[in-house]
Amino acid sequence: MGELAAEIAPGVHVATAEKYTTTTTIIAGEDGGCLLVDPAVSVADLAALAGWLSARGLCPVAGWSTHPHWDHLLWSRALGGAPRYATPRAVAVAAREEADLISGVEESAPGHDLALFARVQPLLGHEIDWPGPRALVYAHNAHAPGHGAIFLPDSGVLIAGDMLSDVEIPLLDLDCADPFGGYREGLRLLASIPGVKALIPGHGHVGDHAEFHRRITADLAYLDAVQAGDHVDDPRLTEDWLRTEHARQMARAAETTRRSAN
Ligand SMILES: [Zn+2]
Repeated sequence: MGELAAEIAPGVHVATAEKYTTTTTIIAGEDGGCLLVDPAVSVADLAALAGWLSARGLCPVAGWSTHPHWDHLLWSRALGGAPRYATPRAVAVAAREEADLISGVEESAPGHDLALFARVQPLLGHEIDWPGPRALVYAHNAHAPGHGAIFLPDSGVLIAGDMLSDVEIPLLDLDCADPFGGYREGLRLLASIPGVKALIPGHGHVGDHAEFHRRITADLAYLDAVQAGDHVDDPRLTEDWLRTEHARQMARAAETTRRSAN
């Protein structure tokens, strides 16, 4: 059996759950404290994570939820009572959509302590105040409203949330007024971050600097093709649920084109 989490940069560990290749990021700070980003996904995954942390003398002193989707709002009693943050917009959306988010957990990862689910508070400012490496927040509205990527300038690690995946196509927030424009804006923001040496997607595999740029290019190419109504031959279209989302995104693009032509 391998390590639960891989150290991808000094003091930055990534655990990958089997379900949806979901990542959890652990950033070691001072005096055994750590910043825990998106702990996921099953009850057993969180129990194993808590065991791994305590075996290494690490204790979460702050949590970060990258965006208001159920698989990024989980927590367990064994992870302790640290404050958990998200962008103000993400906190508002999580509160408004709590019932739907809970249905998502119950359907896909039952058994979590719902008293701890989505208990996030708004982070004011653009940096997490915690005793450890600087953690800067880059907020945008691609994929989900109030999406907050974390960039660690000391190590050049970007924790991207559900963006820049190698296993999922760009998944747009079709509930917003301009899903394609919003997604492009989010990509532009992430692409503008200087000094990215390692990329951690919410689902998929860690990439280096070159892979970071390759994924930005691949995601822009995907959006271009969908908006042009072209046939999309993206190697990430591997599963039925992704093909379903892709079809919805194609339909939305076609509808937008039709509307602007009238
Ligand atoms: Zn998501």
